Amino acid sequence: MTVGRFAPSPSGRMHLGNVFAAMLAWLSVRAKDGTLVLRMEDLDPERTSLAHAAVIRDDLSWLGLDWDSEQTRQGLRAPAYRAALEQLCAQERVYPCWCTRGDLKAAMAPHAADGKPIYPGTCRLLRPEERAKKTRPPLLRMRVPDEDVVFTDGVQGAYRENLARQCGDFVLRRADGVFAYQLAVVTDDAAAGVNEVVRGCDLLDSTPRQIYLQRCLGDAEPHYYHVPLLLAADGHRLSKREKDLDMGALRQTSSPERLLGHLAYVAGILDCDEPASACELIGEFSWDKVKKENISL
Ligand code: GLU
Repeated sequence: MTVGRFAPSPSGRMHLGNVFAAMLAWLSVRAKDGTLVLRMEDLDPERTSLAHAAVIRDDLSWLGLDWDSEQTRQGLRAPAYRAALEQLCAQERVYPCWCTRGDLKAAMAPHAADGKPIYPGTCRLLRPEERAKKTRPPLLRMRVPDEDVVFTDGVQGAYRENLARQCGDFVLRRADGVFAYQLAVVTDDAAAGVNEVVRGCDLLDSTPRQIYLQRCLGDAEPHYYHVPLLLAADGHRLSKREKDLDMGALRQTSSPERLLGHLAYVAGILDCDEPASACELIGEFSWDKVKKENISL
């Protein structure tokens, strides 16, 4: 039985790209008679709100993208994340880190392919007496091995990443106590029995970290489908700042059928740009039809 999920961040109104990923997650599950879990990813209390979460639920319902259960929102799941963290600590894979952004810049770490700095490991080797001298609360990092994580994505194909060389020791909990997305998402997907993850391609390079965490925590690895991103006419990625393509504007000018029909057409599911309800698209859906390259609108 397929268990999929929608995992929106309630930091603003959904935009067309969010709807695109949600539609494909819904179709993939409904085409297999599976179930869908909705989870609000509100780890960061300063960027998310219950009001946005309510609007996202209303927008999904308007589109006809229903769900079978709702998981407790991430903001209330700290005890579960703490338990996962303790398990990793017991395996001696976690260490405290006091490096500031300035320290990291000065350390001139090599950069991953996407330009993000790789943590140089400064705090990994601190001795207990050096740790004891620190006065600020640390963030917590996951020690990663010099090992390739390999998986086959249902859309993008084979993907490989060396954790030490292309990613580096990554953050599990921020210094202010907020748990990191990587740990929360793995803990939540496992708790909900999620075995299929459909999401935007911008998260493809998070997946090796998540698979590594699943292995350390003894969780099963879901099937992954990383779907293309929608790009604005000038080539940049849609974001919640694109007000003309957010659900507030789209609900004024379109209907659920026109929106979903258009998205199914640009995805490669429909041959013509014609209105279609979510239910009408189930019979048309197949992952073989879905394009893998990002899509310009
Ligand atoms: N909360 C993330 C987002 O809204 C999605 C995370 C995920 O699907 O793993 O982009």
